[in-house]
Amino acid sequence: MSHQKESPDQRIGVILPVPVGQVYDYLVPSSLKACPGNIVTVEFGRQKLQGLVWHEEREADISVSKLKYISDVIPDISFSPENLRFLKWAASYTMAPLGAILKMMVSVPNIFTPLKRPRLQLSPLGDPDINFSTRVFNPQQKEAIAFIKNQISKGYSVTLLDGITGSGKTEVYLDVLSECLAKEQQALILLPQIALAPQIADRFEKRFGVSPTLWHSSLTQSQRRISWKRICSGQAKVVIGARSSLFLPYAHLGMIVVDEEHDHAYKQEEGIIYQGRDLAVARAYLGQIPCILASATPSLETVYNCETGRYHRIRLESRYGVAQFPVVSLVDLRERTRQKEGKYWISTPLAIRLEETVAVGEQALIYLNRRGYAPLTLCRACGERLQCPYCSAWLVDHRKYGRFLCHYCGHGVNLATTCQKCGAEDALVACGPGVERIVEEIAARFPSFRTAMISSDTVEDADAMAHIAAKINNHDIDVIIGTQMIAKGHHFPDLTLVGVIDADLGLSGGDLRASEKTYQLLHQVAGRAGREQKPGHVYLQTYTPDHPVLASLISGDRDAFMSQEMEARKRGNMPPFARLASLIFSSFHRENVEATARAFMRCAPRAPDILVLGPAPAPLSIIRGKHRWRILLRTPRTLSIQSVIRHWMKQVKIPSSVKVKIDIDPYSFL
Ligand SMILES: [Zn+2]
Ligand SMILES: [Zn+2]
Repeated sequence: MSHQKESPDQRIGVILPVPVGQVYDYLVPSSLKACPGNIVTVEFGRQKLQGLVWHEEREADISVSKLKYISDVIPDISFSPENLRFLKWAASYTMAPLGAILKMMVSVPNIFTPLKRPRLQLSPLGDPDINFSTRVFNPQQKEAIAFIKNQISKGYSVTLLDGITGSGKTEVYLDVLSECLAKEQQALILLPQIALAPQIADRFEKRFGVSPTLWHSSLTQSQRRISWKRICSGQAKVVIGARSSLFLPYAHLGMIVVDEEHDHAYKQEEGIIYQGRDLAVARAYLGQIPCILASATPSLETVYNCETGRYHRIRLESRYGVAQFPVVSLVDLRERTRQKEGKYWISTPLAIRLEETVAVGEQALIYLNRRGYAPLTLCRACGERLQCPYCSAWLVDHRKYGRFLCHYCGHGVNLATTCQKCGAEDALVACGPGVERIVEEIAARFPSFRTAMISSDTVEDADAMAHIAAKINNHDIDVIIGTQMIAKGHHFPDLTLVGVIDADLGLSGGDLRASEKTYQLLHQVAGRAGREQKPGHVYLQTYTPDHPVLASLISGDRDAFMSQEMEARKRGNMPPFARLASLIFSSFHRENVEATARAFMRCAPRAPDILVLGPAPAPLSIIRGKHRWRILLRTPRTLSIQSVIRHWMKQVKIPSSVKVKIDIDPYSFL
């Protein structure tokens, strides 16, 4: 059959939300018109899928007779060129297929299918009547606002708002947003943890008189649908979201704020691996818009970019009102062990202070970044450690659930007292504390204290967090026992004491960011104390009182710590002075995974400035029954590490039983 017509059908390239890289060719019947950015319905295999028009014209490498026609063009939805640029860039940077990134952009089931029964009008939120009245700021804030507002007109810029906890960073960026809103553009505020969203949303509402659009994983499907449509149509002016909100198809994004930019929660470790902060900066660049990074303890990467002139830096140094950063003291646990004070997890100095604090009607936070009751259980009779049968990890005692749980695969068994290995009864002992054990100790030693435990096991979403925060503010709670979930962003005026059970946790291990991360976390936890008139006090329990991280928390000299760390990274030629990527091989077959990793190593790129380490079994050598091996690659900053890997991967045949995951700029080395 001949296809010779007067005007040949338009041939377009379409990407589909499926995890493959290809652009597929389709034909457009003459009755329809499709441009890049349009969403079209096509046949793909046996399914009907909606895809994104990528190219208007395609080179003909498949004959027209083999192509299918698109069946329709979805009305009223079109992705802007900026979204297409971001999609392409994100796929190339993360080394993920285009279709996988598109899938993230349209991550609402059946988003393009019209609802059968139209719901009530989408929004009483409608077109917001934004209140642009001005506020009172201190001179530093005024200067910061003026500076950033001036940047807005210049297109792309990155500004670090480097301000101590309580210095009013949020007020500054909210004020700057007004400039963006006045220009009818959208603004995105990224938060590392969605439990913080209600607080920021509330402040935004108080400031502007309208509520922002939220985007995070605990929205219901219909909420997601509404938010997505509002964002895509441009109706949503301000979006507050978790890292995944970076991938939404904004109609006209005018500014991005990354709050707590140093937070490791911005790193997505599952599926497509990416660092949300870095993608935010890239998105700002592609859209030629300003990006604001805010932190009290900025990451070394960001500080490096400030020092080399890529980013601007504005310091906010005065704490709001009279509040000062709390006094930090160390409790030397070596000393206490010598004095045989081993029975409790809360040392005597901290316990005394805790009692005093509650006695005068103030509140305390006991911090331990470890879920459950005990991280390890062993048998007194045979020495067996309770381990997950599917992972090289210990089972964690979670008394709250009555289970031993694996934190990597979720495998659980009922709590027992009999050893499965040797059969000894009442022989299993819990080793080390988790937050549940601290709650138990406080209940035993201070039965009158009203406690609240905050961890991902007790506080599942933003609503639960808001509920518990209200109880704390109401003074229905004396002592909070919490994991890092409580370390961030919360403001409790009567909280004056912070006790850190194990300040050394996180300092050991091969993670190149261990010191930086521990410093940031402890600094943040410490910042919970004494946020208003009453002075705060922090006790850090440690076996390594001389560690530079602890020394700098005592002296309060953050910048000295940062420059020490920077020096160490420079000496080791580690990020931000070089680029890293991990290749992680996994398979149910141990031999295959090892053979593939070794095959990669044989073809490893060889150049004097490229370093390849491995292959070696991962520290977590088995997860969910899959064996894991790793290779670490280091290149100079001037080289595209992705290109190096692309070239490398072409030379090795990967068996279908082995999965290769590429982690650009890895944060986890497990
Ligand atoms: Zn045993
Ligand atoms: Zn497991």
